Amino acid sequence: MLRTHNCGELKIKDVGLNVTLCGWLHRLRNLGGMTFIDIRDRYGITQLAFDEKTNKTLCDFAQTLGREYVLQVKGVVKERSSKNPKMPTGDIEIEVNEIKILNKSKIPPFTIEDNTDGGDELRMHYRYLDLRRNIIKLNLSLRHRLSILIRNYMNDNGFMEIETPFLVKSTPEGARDFVVPSRMNVGQFYALPQSPQTFKQLLMVAGFDKYFQLVRCFRDEDLRADRQPEFTQLDCEMSFVEQEDVLQMFEGLIKYLFDKEKGLQFNKFPRLTWEEAMRLYGSDKPDIRFGMKFVEINDEVKGNGFSIFDNAELVVGICAKGCANYTRKQLDELTDFVKRPQVGATGLVYIKCGEDGIKSSIDKFYSVEKLEQIAHKFNAEKGDLILILAGEKGKTRASLSCLRLELGTRLGLRNPNTFAPLWVIDFPLLEWDEETHRFYAMHHPFTAPKPEDYEKLFTHPAEVRANAYDLVVNGVELGGGSIRIHDRKMQNDMFKALGFSEEEAQNQFGFLLDAFEYGAPPHGGIAFGFDRICSVFSGVESIRDFIAFPKNNNGRDVMLDAPSNISLQQLDELNIKLK
Ligand code: ASP
Repeated sequence: MLRTHNCGELKIKDVGLNVTLCGWLHRLRNLGGMTFIDIRDRYGITQLAFDEKTNKTLCDFAQTLGREYVLQVKGVVKERSSKNPKMPTGDIEIEVNEIKILNKSKIPPFTIEDNTDGGDELRMHYRYLDLRRNIIKLNLSLRHRLSILIRNYMNDNGFMEIETPFLVKSTPEGARDFVVPSRMNVGQFYALPQSPQTFKQLLMVAGFDKYFQLVRCFRDEDLRADRQPEFTQLDCEMSFVEQEDVLQMFEGLIKYLFDKEKGLQFNKFPRLTWEEAMRLYGSDKPDIRFGMKFVEINDEVKGNGFSIFDNAELVVGICAKGCANYTRKQLDELTDFVKRPQVGATGLVYIKCGEDGIKSSIDKFYSVEKLEQIAHKFNAEKGDLILILAGEKGKTRASLSCLRLELGTRLGLRNPNTFAPLWVIDFPLLEWDEETHRFYAMHHPFTAPKPEDYEKLFTHPAEVRANAYDLVVNGVELGGGSIRIHDRKMQNDMFKALGFSEEEAQNQFGFLLDAFEYGAPPHGGIAFGFDRICSVFSGVESIRDFIAFPKNNNGRDVMLDAPSNISLQQLDELNIKLK
């Protein structure tokens, strides 16, 4: 090794030791007679000291070194006269007697600090420099630790990690596929997998009754902070199980991760049915770190001549504790918030339960007694503010959910170091799409209907519930899965409900349908967004900084400058003609 120690390990007990360190020049300070260099590697930072009095030549040389030079230094560990309790190595410094430049560096385009002066695009362009920053290094270390913990838990519970292919077949369901042209099969394309769903089911047919894989998945979707075109799943499947078995196994995993990584213990995770989650929080991934549950007040408000409420399918509100003193301006801000196109409400009604009585934006239509009756329904106390939206059920719930989260943030109720996991269960099997006028599978087409709802598939498809579940933490969907169909007839029925002809189903999923005829066991599973697990554990929204080489919001790798054009010769070989 070119070094005897790393830059994070020397402590007071090492005083007197002759050491050799390697690392990057992090900072250089010239204080007249003394020059100090902070040398940095993956493990930390150590201070190097050069005294003009003892070795002027070396001190002069040290002063010529630039930021991010790669150095090898030899010296003796000394106790510092002014210690830095904030640094693990802050009690010591190295009195250097030899220094060698292992490689020079150009001046980096941004500072390698937690609070860097580099903008997003610049840092993405020089990602290898960005990765030198402590903050990102910590994120990737967390990711590594979680991956090891996951593998331990899965292994301890008898799961086998099995790899599945990346060059697969394109299917029209789900998100858009990334496709890869095949040179040897002219005019034909592979797709990159959106998930290994069908493969893991085939592994169950093959008898590998407990499978998992930390696996890259690819989806050509519009990007947001919590989405990347390629991302990693912890993908899992089990045979001979019912929903309860899957929930327990993976509740166990999440508890294990919280315990080992954060020292946090949890009781049994709460469970909400999808219907309850939508009714109480307007969302299938509720943030239950705080209450502020929805209260529906159709019965209380209709028939008083206020046409907006009278004509609405749903009138529903939330009670913000201690907010009755909100000013006109603050209320206007909230009204503007709900009217933003992303939130989509047309207006906001308030009832203030003030010290000096009840006041409301609708007191023209409702008597004080009536308003008090409504406030009572919310369990509102003096000092509380009730905020009400009205309109079509689905949209109104979605808008109120945004408002609830916004208020939760404003009121400091969404502490990133508090974790509130829950299961959302009993999702509907199908979802109607107004645009294409057909049903889509809410989870995916391989999800089984609840046995008691199966018959409704033919009569009332919208009412069929599935044994499908999501694990939600702090308003983020960390994972989702279901009990699968393992019977050819049921799978055919499902495709029929989704509007597939028998021929289309056979063309696209024949391999799976056929496999179901060779002894497919009952099975079910789940997949977690691994990048999201990392970001939620760190209390941040963006998954990008938990991925070593992420894409930007346009799906570009700005360092590689990909995607890029390919040569005419390559296009020719692939028999692709660009318009
Ligand atoms: N394959 C599913 C997904 O990617 C998860 C599952 O059902 O196991 O969402």
